[in-house]
Amino acid sequence: MQGVMNMKNGQCPKCGARKVYSGANIPLKSGPFSSNAIPISLTSMAALDNYVCAACGLVESYIADQSKLEEVVQRWDQVKPETGSDK
Ligand SMILES: [Zn+2]
Repeated sequence: MQGVMNMKNGQCPKCGARKVYSGANIPLKSGPFSSNAIPISLTSMAALDNYVCAACGLVESYIADQSKLEEVVQRWDQVKPETGSDK
């Protein structure tokens, strides 16, 4: 579908600018200080790909590693959507 604003498609979903820069290929994202990663469990960290809008400063982070996403599903609590449709 065309026109959906998505950082991964190069357009900022907040301000609409097409000035999105990706840190997906920077060398330090899974470096020794885990500066660009989030903890999944005591023994597991997931490296993040960051997308930054150079117009408004919005940052979006994505976990690129599919196996880490599966770990999140197994270990984290799901946030239930409050749609009210399943009452
Ligand atoms: Zn923006």
